[in-house]
Amino acid sequence: MRGLLHNLKSHFNNSNLECKILVVSMFSGMAICFTSAIVNYFLAMGIWASIVPFIMSIFYVFFIYDVVVRNNFKLAAYGSLAMITVFVFPSLWLTGAGLKGSIPYFYIYMIFLSAVVLNKHPFKRMIAFQIVTLLGLIYIDVNQPELIRPYDSHMAQIFDMSYSLIVIIALVFFLIRYIMMKYNQTIDELRNTKAELEKANEILHHSSITDPLTDLYNRRYIKEKLENISSYDCGSSSSVIMIDIDYFKSINDNFGHDVGDCVLKNIGELFKDNLPSNSHVSRIGGEEFLIVLENASQDKAFEIGENLRQLVENNTWDKHDLEVTISAGVYSFDSSISVENIFKRADDALYMSKNGGRNRVRCFDSR
Ligand code: GH3
Ligand code: MG
Ligand code: MG
Repeated sequence: MRGLLHNLKSHFNNSNLECKILVVSMFSGMAICFTSAIVNYFLAMGIWASIVPFIMSIFYVFFIYDVVVRNNFKLAAYGSLAMITVFVFPSLWLTGAGLKGSIPYFYIYMIFLSAVVLNKHPFKRMIAFQIVTLLGLIYIDVNQPELIRPYDSHMAQIFDMSYSLIVIIALVFFLIRYIMMKYNQTIDELRNTKAELEKANEILHHSSITDPLTDLYNRRYIKEKLENISSYDCGSSSSVIMIDIDYFKSINDNFGHDVGDCVLKNIGELFKDNLPSNSHVSRIGGEEFLIVLENASQDKAFEIGENLRQLVENNTWDKHDLEVTISAGVYSFDSSISVENIFKRADDALYMSKNGGRNRVRCFDSR
């Protein structure tokens, strides 16, 4: 028994909102039918006044089992709404003073329940069915009032009307409150998921355009940047500085690969900290860097390259006997040149620096 209850509870907790509302409503329906069967029996209201609600409570048990255990939401939803429309509602109408009694309140609740429970399912036929039933009962109220059992006394009417009104108000209030709570919970969850996704996207984007060791832009990004810059003619030239660390292999050999990595990182930071805002620094390969300077002449780029060269040469390293220098090649271009050629010419200028003895900056010579 405990296992079954636990099972029911976990099925219930995992189900969606309309399913939960349906189950709770069916539980209340089952309780109402069962108690009225017993009360009617003791009040000697006639055998049918006990048998009909008792059979209906059995149906409810079946529907609850169907929706919670067998996941058959549709059968339970349509079945229980049809049962309310065909049996519960008309029998209560006929025995409960019809239009003058409290049953119209329950009708409003039934329509409300149908709208909630059938929100993802076809509902038109069910609503039409309910309206036709209501019209039929109003017709009986008008043309055959003798079929409708009136209240025994004015006090009974007041009691029934007030009790039913309070029950319906409480049901509607708690149902709407529950729906709003779930709605707000879902909105909050969606907001959190959206924020997490945006953050993950940002991280993903950052790692797709940067080099993990130095956190500088990578080759792919700087190529795209250059493509953008060289695709529009802004009237002034831009420049690139291609930089290569001198004898880096011997740094690795003499001090170890980790020290080599530290040198790469420190040089990257040195570049970032000492470049103007119109520049983009990238690591395009092992110990090679490319700096793009937007709207910067060759002279300006040379000046910047020379400044970087001196900064590296005069930098003090943790390992005091470490000496690091860089060679650089400068190339200025306008919009009419391809990215491949920009790279090639900057590389030619860098080659001139290397050939000239390293630790120097050279500009591309077109001659
Ligand atoms: P040159 O002055 O002619 O540029 O000489 P070089 O020794 O700097 O050039 P070479 O191309 O002979 O050696 C580059 C070295 O850079 C070889 C490679 O092991 C090292 N290297 C490439 N990527 C990394 C890296 O991410 N970390 C470290 N520590 N070393 C790297
Ligand atoms: Mg090198
Ligand atoms: Mg190299």
